[in-house]
Amino acid sequence: MISHKYKSPNYSDRVKDSKIEFIIIHYTGVDMQFHKVINWFLDERSRVSCHFLIDTSGKIYNLVDISKRAWHAGKSFWNNCVDINSNSIGIELHNAGNEDFTAHQLESLVKLVKKLMRDNAIQSWDILGHSDVSIGRKIDPGVKFPWQHLAKEKIGFFSDLSQENFDMDNSDKNSPQFIKEIQTKLMTIGYHVYKSGVFDTQTVEALKAFQRHWRPVKVNGMLDVSTKQILTEVHKKLSEFRGGH
Ligand SMILES: [Zn+2]
Repeated sequence: MISHKYKSPNYSDRVKDSKIEFIIIHYTGVDMQFHKVINWFLDERSRVSCHFLIDTSGKIYNLVDISKRAWHAGKSFWNNCVDINSNSIGIELHNAGNEDFTAHQLESLVKLVKKLMRDNAIQSWDILGHSDVSIGRKIDPGVKFPWQHLAKEKIGFFSDLSQENFDMDNSDKNSPQFIKEIQTKLMTIGYHVYKSGVFDTQTVEALKAFQRHWRPVKVNGMLDVSTKQILTEVHKKLSEFRGGH
């Protein structure tokens, strides 16, 4: 059951002919009681909103009609799309940012995401975190968000490879060719990176975002063995998936 009790004034029209392609997952990220969080989304001065807000008991509130452009992603980018708000549905989870998500909340999220995927023909790989689309700027839904659990529900992909090989293999680290290969993989997955051939800030930020989603046990922006292996696997799986669609 979705509640329509609260409606946010913070939305606009989706850009003409835009297609809903993505679902962006957020946490509210403030240590605030639920009614205060709701009031923030309902206050036109906040200039923020989302389509759905899920409280810790698993109750879902629809704050903006999905035909409208809610204001949840801000400056963002994924796979050459620069107006994520026009092309996505935004879901906020009530969570202070450093706490575990509740089982009820995750159960509601999975049901909601599956329904939205069906209704809008959204692909499984296009369920993303705010941190994926706003690298260097946002870290939600954070390392406690269970992407692995969603993958078990056939939402996205999660690698079975070990996450915990933190060894650094420096032999190829400084080769521009190698760094370009890493940047190409990140870029192909969707991250906002260009091929500089240098291990620069944008690369570190994209790697951190990648780790938050696919290697959450350690987020440091470094190319350790696990990060490289998982990046290679995610890139391969996603390329196969896109090739088949
Ligand atoms: Zn967010």
